[in-house]
Amino acid sequence: MASNVVPAAIPQTDPRAGYLAQRAAIDVAIARVLEGGSYILGREVEAFEAAFADFLGVAHAVGCANGTDAIELALRACGIGPGDVVFTVSHTAVATVAAIERAGATAVLVDVEPGTYTMAPHELSRALQMSLPGRPAAVLPVHIYGQPADLSALVEIARKHGLRLIEDCAQSHGALYRGRSAGCFGDIGCFSFYPTKNLGALGDGGIVVTNDASLATALREMREYGWRDRYVSARIGINSRLDPLQAAILEVKLKNLEADNARRQAIADRYDEGFAGPPLAVPARRAGASHVFHQYVVRLAERDALRDHLAAAGIGTGIHYPVPVHRQPAYSGRLACGPSGLGVTERAAPQILSLPIYPQLADEAVDRVVATIRDFFG
Ligand SMILES: *Cc1c(COP(=O)(O)O)cnc(C)c1O
Repeated sequence: MASNVVPAAIPQTDPRAGYLAQRAAIDVAIARVLEGGSYILGREVEAFEAAFADFLGVAHAVGCANGTDAIELALRACGIGPGDVVFTVSHTAVATVAAIERAGATAVLVDVEPGTYTMAPHELSRALQMSLPGRPAAVLPVHIYGQPADLSALVEIARKHGLRLIEDCAQSHGALYRGRSAGCFGDIGCFSFYPTKNLGALGDGGIVVTNDASLATALREMREYGWRDRYVSARIGINSRLDPLQAAILEVKLKNLEADNARRQAIADRYDEGFAGPPLAVPARRAGASHVFHQYVVRLAERDALRDHLAAAGIGTGIHYPVPVHRQPAYSGRLACGPSGLGVTERAAPQILSLPIYPQLADEAVDRVVATIRDFFG
């Protein structure tokens, strides 16, 4: 009887499901903003900034328009610009490097660790020894897929060389490193609220966090024309404000972030168990850190064939990211990298696959993904 029933497609991510899960509260929040009559910054943004800072355990949070702007604002607030080198990775969203260049600084790309795909501290040390295209000013690790980079090693290198440490936390809302939130280890932590992130808006949004009061003041001024007081630009700024509608939505969704991250971790555990057999590498987990699984990324040589096999069964997958930044047409051939090159990054790109993961994904769907992958391996 059920033989002609096609099973429902399983998307790789589903931000609409996140909205529907809290629809009543989100709709109330949206109506409140619309009726409030104030549509730029104001109390909605301030309330969310305070709630997010409290959630992370950091002193200051400053909302902005998106995660790319968050990184640009962080660099500018630290006084980093033309002539300055910022060390980051090529295994990331292009946004990370785009923000460095928009601040006027020069990116130098450092290879990642093979297991976690986060910045390899010894490669950063080696890059600091070479002749650089500017003054070494900052290190910008990415907590890719939701797992903190090796922060104790990176903090130590940054301190030793007088570098600023700016964390790209666009995928790591709520991840912990030795019991403290990622984003609070460096000078500034930068978050995106792109709809599919662990904490996602229903549109664009971003935030910068810091424990340094003078950096917080600089960030607040810079996100709005450099205004210290209305119509008084104390410094050069940009326009990058968090929309109060998104702030109100985010305040609702923040209340569920811990539970949402726990659900992502439960899905990851279920995948790990399901793949005890097949020849595919499951995500490495860093000791002393929590992984909040923005993505669950497996690795195998037959990546494209497995991707097609899953697509034929109605299962969506993603690749984060198919082409490293230094191989993108706009960047190719003009970015400096560390002395060992970017071999780990380049070998990973054709082998990584992001499986379906989002808080509303049911156990039955996870089991179907596992069964379909086991079937691929025979
Ligand atoms: C999403 C993302 C960004 C950029 O965020 P936007 O809000 O899209 O500007 C930056 N870095 C990483 C690692 C990301 O995943």
